[in-house]
Amino acid sequence: MRTSIIRKSAGDLRLPPNLDAAAAANFTWSQARAELQGLPGGGINIAHEALDRHANGLRATHVALRHLDRRGHRRDITYAELTRSANKFANTLRALGVRKGERVFLLCARIPELYIAALGALKAGAVVSPLFSAFGPEPIKTRLALGDARVLVTTTSLYQRKVAAIRDAVPALRHVLVVPDAPTATVPSGTVDFGEALACAADVFATEPTTEDDMALLHFTSGTTGTPKGAVHVHGAVVTHFATGRYALDLHPEDIYWCTADPGWVTGTSYGIIAPLLHGVTSIIDEADFDAERWYRILQDEAVSVWYTAPTAIRMLMKAGVEMARGYRFPQLRFIASVGEPLNPEAVWWGKDALGLPIHDNWWQTETGGIMIGNTPAMDIKPGSMGRPLPGVEAGIVRKTADGRLEVIETPDTEGELALRKGWPSMFRGYLGQDERYRTCFDGDWYLTGDLAKRDADGYFWFVGRSDDVIKSAGHLIGPFEVESALMEHPAVAEAGVIGKPDPMSGEVVKAFVSLRAGFEASDALRLELLGHARKRLGAAVAPKEIAFLPSLPRTRSGKIMRRLLKARELGLPEGDTSMLEGS
Ligand code: AMP
Repeated sequence: MRTSIIRKSAGDLRLPPNLDAAAAANFTWSQARAELQGLPGGGINIAHEALDRHANGLRATHVALRHLDRRGHRRDITYAELTRSANKFANTLRALGVRKGERVFLLCARIPELYIAALGALKAGAVVSPLFSAFGPEPIKTRLALGDARVLVTTTSLYQRKVAAIRDAVPALRHVLVVPDAPTATVPSGTVDFGEALACAADVFATEPTTEDDMALLHFTSGTTGTPKGAVHVHGAVVTHFATGRYALDLHPEDIYWCTADPGWVTGTSYGIIAPLLHGVTSIIDEADFDAERWYRILQDEAVSVWYTAPTAIRMLMKAGVEMARGYRFPQLRFIASVGEPLNPEAVWWGKDALGLPIHDNWWQTETGGIMIGNTPAMDIKPGSMGRPLPGVEAGIVRKTADGRLEVIETPDTEGELALRKGWPSMFRGYLGQDERYRTCFDGDWYLTGDLAKRDADGYFWFVGRSDDVIKSAGHLIGPFEVESALMEHPAVAEAGVIGKPDPMSGEVVKAFVSLRAGFEASDALRLELLGHARKRLGAAVAPKEIAFLPSLPRTRSGKIMRRLLKARELGLPEGDTSMLEGS
């Protein structure tokens, strides 16, 4: 019978784990910082640690990135080659007049140029802001404008489909570099050919002398209301990327590592670009979308040893059946981790059955910049739990008392808000241009995560839910307001309310409720039209999958749509406190 704990013994570990009792006891952030090189003048730069430290050392000829294109062709790029290409991009930015702190946005599929541009921009002291290539024109425009984009790196097809029409709405965007992504693709007018620009640039570059407090990355995330929030991250965050790569992902020098997250989201940047390079390992980049057979083939043929993926992907593999997995062999695979949404206990066990290893859940969010809570290789796993705080991280379950004070709940198994004590290096330093919104995330020494959780008597944390209305679909955080705004642009829509509807595969799917303006009738044709309208504007990753018509939407007396009530009604749950409901 399955116990509720997966116990680990030395026999379960193929390599001595990086996190043992001594490492945990002796850990300090300053000691982790001391293991990095730093810049000659004393500053620190993420790309210098990720690239130059290796390119100027013993790992220069080690493969840094192994890119698999959609047809499965491989291209290996060594640390020395990647450094030279990043230098060329940094020199290209300089030639374009881009200065320290200016924003370089990336909108690409997982192609080598994305990684080269990200690292080169960091070397140049520019701020990197990755966008998800499945976004539609609307989310792209909003983020380019909010982030004050100076440069965009994209592909010819993405430019034509998603950027050309909105470019005039972002006048600060001065330079667009495009990677031709079809043999016949020509570079659109008003853009520069990425390859040609780099061909003319020198391959040596003196990294901008950035400090640990200089802004490095801008990651947009969604809130319940208002525009997306640009979480500001600094070069000093590299210390967290380094320490968590070592302890949460257990990276060892000879690992072949595969992070399946897209760099358009924070996991794909912190752990798809930065952390593996910091550890000098070989990182697999798969350009193609999910396909169960393809993924098993990659795990097998590329001899992946450490795999970082997400619950939705694991559920899709589970759906494909354990027999498919058994058709492949994974003798090198020694550690599997997952993040982004609740990982069902069955998925943890399925890993053991199908891949020979349990899945290790971990928890973090855009604002934390790196993994905060996790199941590490030597730890016993309690399937369904996110694990325990990593070294250097203090997590607590908190609540507000009646007189407004923050109280840390000591009683085990009690629900409250998950909070982290300030002080880890990758903590976000602001929401761009939204100081008040940033301030409200903190209470004294604690950062309030917006997640509800419990801690058990053994110090394991258990996710309960979000304290707000944001939606997690296939691991992607979606702001209901952004979806509602796009729907409201349609002439038929009077009001829109958007919720996350539980879904066995994606965790949640986006469902919209709309009421119509006078003169419009609910019909299947109109539903399809609205779905199409939203998809065109927002892109497939954000648009609603379902739309329902209602005569009117429930609102509070102050006029806010009560999404909580829409959700309760959808799920047939008790409606809770409706005293704020208009007309009640
Ligand atoms: P993002 O900022 O897009 O990375 O989303 C962060 C949010 O994803 C967290 O605040 C949680 O709500 C959710 N999340 C991340 N990891 C986990 C996990 N292991 N279990 C449950 N929810 C998670």
